Amino acid sequence: MIVVLDSAASIETVLPIIRQVAPRAVLLGEASPPLIALPTAAPEQAEAWAALPGVRRVIAGDAPVLSTFALHDQPYPVDVGPMRFGGRHIPVIAGPCSVDTPERLQRLAQGVKEAGATLLRGGAFKGRTSPYAFQGLGREGVTMLAEVGRATGLPVVTEVISESDVAWMAETVDMLQVGARNMHNTALLKLLGQQPTPVLLKRGFGSTVDELLRAADYVLAGGNSRVILCERGIRSFERGVRFSFDLSAFAKLKRESRLPIVVDPSHAAGDAPLVPTIARAAVAAGADGLLIEVHDAPPEALSDQEQALCPGPFSELMNTLRPIAAAVNRTL
Ligand code: PEP
Ligand code: MN
Repeated sequence: MIVVLDSAASIETVLPIIRQVAPRAVLLGEASPPLIALPTAAPEQAEAWAALPGVRRVIAGDAPVLSTFALHDQPYPVDVGPMRFGGRHIPVIAGPCSVDTPERLQRLAQGVKEAGATLLRGGAFKGRTSPYAFQGLGREGVTMLAEVGRATGLPVVTEVISESDVAWMAETVDMLQVGARNMHNTALLKLLGQQPTPVLLKRGFGSTVDELLRAADYVLAGGNSRVILCERGIRSFERGVRFSFDLSAFAKLKRESRLPIVVDPSHAAGDAPLVPTIARAAVAAGADGLLIEVHDAPPEALSDQEQALCPGPFSELMNTLRPIAAAVNRTL
């Protein structure tokens, strides 16, 4: 059960009263409006809590309420640096799967910027499926990404995989990515909820839409209101593609969530020639952003070689996306 308060001012009066009866009641971070979760409350208590002064409403069950329209009826755009996700313009996040050398990253950043990308991505902590695969450059890679981002004027996005890296990374980059393999890492999500930095939350490839929204609520309930969702493909019986882009889930998220939704066609396809088709479908369907892996020598890439677009094809893709964006009353 979730008790929704009118304002932060009500916490002091309402929480002690509820705790007398329900000692396990938890005040959820700095969520706005403030929420009190009652993990073990009996449904018959709902009426009593709803009648308390300072209580806006009581919601039975534990469904996601902050990432959905349960409490707020307006979509929630998220600003990352000067770029707005969830507005009329569709920001494109582009860059290599893994950052490798400063020279290449600088070249790529300049190339994707000229093609129209407005944020730079690059993995430095890679949560790889195999322990023997390249694990990323770590701190050095994050620093390199931040420096190149500053030099090119592009906000930067990178994945954080460990709680111990959250604090310094939150101060170093413009947006922290939670990878598909970490979507259920509740300790990481809770910690990200306490940061001022926007979070790009990728859907686990075996996770439902409802689970993604619940994961988003973990971050939002901690008080960090800037969460962007990312559909990046799920595992299906199809073996001809790396993952399956789940347009049905995207449509469902568009209806259910007030958060911006980015589509990652690169991981959904796993194969560069398939990326443009999915990207175009995503823009036509109303994506609030795209995340595309770009590398200038894919065979030399340290991870995800097959799916990286070269700067030329990336630029051509951007050109084909613009009229599609215009057709759905967006810009790109
Ligand atoms: C990535 O963005 O490079 C990545 C590892 O993505 P995912 O977590 O979706 O696999
Ligand atoms: Mn990748």
